[in-house]
Amino acid sequence: MIIILHPDTDQSGEAYRKLIDYLSTLQGIRYRLHEVLGAQQRLTEIYLIGDTSSIDAAMVESFEVVERVVRVSREYRVIGRHKDDQRTGEFIYKGIRFSQNNLLLFAGLCAVDTPEHVEMMYKCLQENGQQCARMGAYKPRTNPYSFQGHGKDCLPYVFELAGKYGIKVIAMEITHDNHIHEIHEALEKAGQPTGVILQIGTRNTQNFELLKSAGRQKEYPVLLKRGFGITLEESLNAAEYLASEGNRRIIFCLRGMKTNMGDPHRNLVDFAHVPVIKRMTHMPVCVDPSHSVGMRQAAPDQILDIMHATAQGIIAGANMVLVDFHPDPARALVDGPQALLLKELPWFIDDMQIAREAYERRVKLAGQNS
Ligand code: PEP
Ligand code: MN
Repeated sequence: MIIILHPDTDQSGEAYRKLIDYLSTLQGIRYRLHEVLGAQQRLTEIYLIGDTSSIDAAMVESFEVVERVVRVSREYRVIGRHKDDQRTGEFIYKGIRFSQNNLLLFAGLCAVDTPEHVEMMYKCLQENGQQCARMGAYKPRTNPYSFQGHGKDCLPYVFELAGKYGIKVIAMEITHDNHIHEIHEALEKAGQPTGVILQIGTRNTQNFELLKSAGRQKEYPVLLKRGFGITLEESLNAAEYLASEGNRRIIFCLRGMKTNMGDPHRNLVDFAHVPVIKRMTHMPVCVDPSHSVGMRQAAPDQILDIMHATAQGIIAGANMVLVDFHPDPARALVDGPQALLLKELPWFIDDMQIAREAYERRVKLAGQNS
């Protein structure tokens, strides 16, 4: 059961104390507070944990501070959509809106290699009206002898250059909870020129300690990738870990499933799950066509498979696209073969726009027919 209080409820007031006193009398029920800081107001939600079936919702709703009560199913208490549940997964970070209703592009380097390449990437993004980027500093690699990423050493120039080119948010993978601290320190030292979304990669989807650390801090939103060899339910439970620790600013990312059934692509594209996640949860949904498709090949129609997959995700309602670009893919240290070229960015953006417009027309048509 979730008890939603009136916006900006005073937690030191008498009316609030009356509710808490009542909750404390409930046998076998624990409660946990969630604060949701919106642009205009502070929302407080109280999650009751335990068997709440005998609690009278109308009685709880009669408390002065209570706006409404939502009965939740056992699964996905925080991230899930429940009956009569008007909560939203929408949030604003560094002026950028993350929502199930819009579309954002996060293009950039799979792995940071040189300051020159980082600068070329940001410059190109700025020239094309973009304020978000992806930049990999910590790389989880299959082979221990492969390049592991420059780690914290590259953060000063990655952040400073972001500020120079008006990049407001960078999606950056972390593989250890130390990395949250390193990112935090580097941002402070650089004077907060940009923001960071902590990316948890497909190899760490069920790294529960990492999820708890990323969930406990509330400074940075989290982009969680679906695990490449587990069910959707298991990956959504991983997202619930983040939320249950207190961080509600979560974006869920599809990136393809590991199976030879997807050959010759790197993974089997799973973007048909975009509407499923939007139906089951409040999270904005991201698609990563680069790690799904993994190659630059094009069909006879001259459209790259990566662009086809992107369009499939967007036409199904995706809210964010995370995609690899590189100024010189032949010299990229990680995933060069799937990187798009900087000169392809305007084409990519136009192609995304076509798919988004088609999606919006489809929504309208559905509205007229249902
Ligand atoms: C990445 O986005 O750089 C990455 C390693 O992705 P994934 O976790 O999906 O393999
Ligand atoms: Mn990669």
